[in-house]
Amino acid sequence: MMNTEICQITDRSLAEAKSILLSGGLVAFPTETVYGLGADARSDSGVDKIFTTKGRPQDNPLIVHIHRDFDLNGLVYDEMPYAKKLREVFLPGPLTLVYRSKGKVSSKVSCGLDTLAVRVPSHVGAQAFLRYVDLPIAAPSANVSKHVSPVSAEHVFADLNGKIPLILDGGPSSGGIESTVCDVTGEYPVVLRQGLVSVEMIRSVVGKCGVYVPKEGEQVRSPGMKYKHYAPKCKTCLVTDAKQASLRFDEFKKEGLRAYVLCESKYAKYFPKDRLLDLGSTAEEMASRLYSLLREGELVADVIIAIEPTRSDGVMAGVLNRLNKACAEE
Ligand code: AMP
Ligand code: MG
Repeated sequence: MMNTEICQITDRSLAEAKSILLSGGLVAFPTETVYGLGADARSDSGVDKIFTTKGRPQDNPLIVHIHRDFDLNGLVYDEMPYAKKLREVFLPGPLTLVYRSKGKVSSKVSCGLDTLAVRVPSHVGAQAFLRYVDLPIAAPSANVSKHVSPVSAEHVFADLNGKIPLILDGGPSSGGIESTVCDVTGEYPVVLRQGLVSVEMIRSVVGKCGVYVPKEGEQVRSPGMKYKHYAPKCKTCLVTDAKQASLRFDEFKKEGLRAYVLCESKYAKYFPKDRLLDLGSTAEEMASRLYSLLREGELVADVIIAIEPTRSDGVMAGVLNRLNKACAEE
C-alpha cells in the first residue's frame, strides 16, 4: 500500500503533482462538480491505472480536462459553429463537450470511440492545477467505481487511501453532481448526460438541443450511462411521496432497521429531525448536497428512503437521474 497525502494547493504540491503525472501516476484534484482522479491523457499506462484503481469498466470512456488557454484544436476537430457559442457562454464550467478526436491522447481515454470528451472546469484549484501541469488530464470521478462520487478530499481519501499518492484539497465541490455531457459532432447538440448546465439553458443559447435516450439493442452513445452508479453502501429505496416514505419508515422500524429519509425541505416536517437528510429546496441546492448526504447517510443508516423530487425540468433532471441511479437495483 502506498502512502496517500492530502495537500492544499501550493507551488510545492503542484510540482509534486506534475512529477507524479509525468511518471505515469495518478493525482486526485478538486473541480466545481466532483473530485477527479487524473492521469496524463497521453500516457497509456497512466490512463490504464485509472481503470484498475477505480475498478472502472473498460468500456466507460474518460473526460479530458484542460485549462482555459489550452489548445483545444490540438486535441479535437471543432466543426460545429454552435459549439463555439456553447463554450463562450458556459465555459469554464460544468459542461463537457464531445468532439471528433484527433487521436492525440491515449486511445484508452475514449475506449476505442472516435470521439473525445473535453471539459474546462471553473474551480480555481482545478484551473491552478491544470495550468501548472499544462497537460491534458484524463479524469473520471475519484471514487471506487459505482460508489457515490466524492465532493471533498476526505471522500476521495475514504475510497482511495493507499491506492494513490496525492489528493489536492480544494475544499468542498460546490456544484455537487457530475458535468453535463453534450455531443457536439452533429447538426445540433445532444445531451448525453444531464447536469448543472440544463438542456433548457443550452436551448436558450443555440435554439435546438436533443436529449439522448438509449434505444434497446443500440450501442450506447455515452457508455457510462448504462452502469449502476453513485450508490451508497447501505440499502436504499426510492418512493414518490411523503406518505409512502412514512409507511416504509415504519415498516423498517418494525424490522429493527434504522431508516433515514433523504428529501426536499418541504417534506422535512413529516419525519424525525435526527433521521433526516435534508436536500434543501432549489435544484441547485439539492445537486450540491446530494452526494455528501448519501455519504453521510451510509455511515449511520441501515436504509436510506429517498423521496423523488416533484419536478423534473432543468437542473432537477440531473438530480433525478443521479437519485435514480443511486437507488437502482443493479
Ligand atoms: P465520469 O467521469 O465518471 O463522470 O464519467 C464520464 C462520463 O462521460 C461517462 O458517462 C462517459 O460515458 C462520458 N463520456 C466520456 N467520453 C465520452 C465520449 N467520447 N463519448 C460519449 N460519452 C463520453
Ligand atoms: Mg464517475
